Amino acid sequence: MTDKPIIVIGAGMCGVSTATWLQRFGHSVTLMDKGAPGMGASFGNAGLLAQWAVAPVTSPALWRDAPKLLLDPNSPLFMKWAYFPKMLPWLAQFLSHANDAATRRIVSNLIPLLNDAVDQHKSLVRGKDMERWICDSKFSFVYKSKAHFEADSYAWSMKKLAGLVPQIVTGGAVQECEPILGHDTRCLAVLEGQGHITNPGQYIAELAKHFVKNGGTFIHAQVRDLVRVNGQISQIETDQGTFECSRAVVTAGIWSKDLMKKLGLKVPLETERGYHVIFENPSQMPRNPMLVVSGKFGVNPMQMGLRCAGTVELGDHHAGPSKAPIRLLKRHAKEAFPDLSYSGTQEWMGFRPSTPDSLPLIGELGNSGIYTGFGHQHVGLTSGPKTGRLLAQMIDGNTPNVDMSPYAPARYTA
Ligand SMILES: Cc1cc2nc3c(=O)[nH]c(=O)nc-3n(C[C@H](O)[C@H](O)[C@H](O)COP(=O)(O)OP(=O)(O)OC[C@H]3O[C@@H](n4cnc5c(N)ncnc54)[C@H](O)[C@@H]3O)c2cc1C
Repeated sequence: MTDKPIIVIGAGMCGVSTATWLQRFGHSVTLMDKGAPGMGASFGNAGLLAQWAVAPVTSPALWRDAPKLLLDPNSPLFMKWAYFPKMLPWLAQFLSHANDAATRRIVSNLIPLLNDAVDQHKSLVRGKDMERWICDSKFSFVYKSKAHFEADSYAWSMKKLAGLVPQIVTGGAVQECEPILGHDTRCLAVLEGQGHITNPGQYIAELAKHFVKNGGTFIHAQVRDLVRVNGQISQIETDQGTFECSRAVVTAGIWSKDLMKKLGLKVPLETERGYHVIFENPSQMPRNPMLVVSGKFGVNPMQMGLRCAGTVELGDHHAGPSKAPIRLLKRHAKEAFPDLSYSGTQEWMGFRPSTPDSLPLIGELGNSGIYTGFGHQHVGLTSGPKTGRLLAQMIDGNTPNVDMSPYAPARYTA
């Protein structure tokens, strides 16, 4: 045994969950972040516990649809063209998964990370104040028409592999279900037994506070390097000094790419930048969260207002926000909710950390004592608690009851 702590780098959903589980297993844990906990991608997401999000963006139809989507000003896919040449190697690998066999493989490997997400969140917070941020709900996929729903049959065949079969609502019954939707919307596909978070930033901030109250340490510091001695992690160098550790866990979202570089590893991690708009003091709220399929944005009735979040902008994680995705989100929200009025809006951009095969890197880098927990693309809020539990089990020397080989970092670091 050693009295040096395990250092967890990055206090987003994945890092705070990992620190919490390690603490529960009796370890001394230090959580570090360059900012306040929960202020990265985990802050502004759609807040959906998306147990159903098993189908990756790289569906077989992507080859057919991507060029059209990139050129259509109404499409939720954007590209920062100046970054395109730098992104090409990642894009080539990403697109290599856009076929049926790869999609089925990815779906079967995302299911164990997602299928019990609501329960995983609840077991992270059971009996604590943070429980109030987790809501059980139904979840609706919003379609223009039954034909529009039927055209999405490939995605539904993938969800069926996870045991998810929707109830279909059509015609005027749509507005009886969700009065906020305009009369142009004629079809909903509704899933029971789902969940959502009503303030992700606050939820994570409170989880981090609870971790400290239970004896954990939080250090506000920017990690600059991970120092190894004879191949084993020994110290973490930060802008606040150097800290000894027995093990380190990198849960730094998109910024994990920069930390991997320090270790001499060129991990193919790029960001799908995403945006949200919060409609403050809305005149209407949906009864349950939903996904407006044509605009590819999530809708969540949150504590601070009605949040619409989505769009994918392929680009750089150092560049600031663009205006066009926000304009489009607002326009699509107006189309879906024509009678919505509100007192003002808040806008945000964040970085989804995405790998070419749409699976995170969860595991140890060789026998270095350095573990990875990043690359959760569109589903890191959903799968963070499960990731944290799996990492804590691995660090504790227990074999998780999930086959970890699909997530092994070695597939991109060997
Ligand atoms: C618009 C949008 C909508 C989304 N909707 C959903 C959704 O509904 N459901 C869902 O499951 N997922 C959703 N996601 C994805 C989800 O937000 C991410 O997958 C998830 O937040 C990633 O969590 P993380 O802990 O890996 O990273 P982050 O939350 O980004 O946390 C990383 C942390 O590391 C810290 N850090 C980085 N570098 C350093 C360093 N050198 N030293 C110290 N600290 C460092 C950062 O400050 C940050 O706090 C959405 C994302 C976006 C952008």
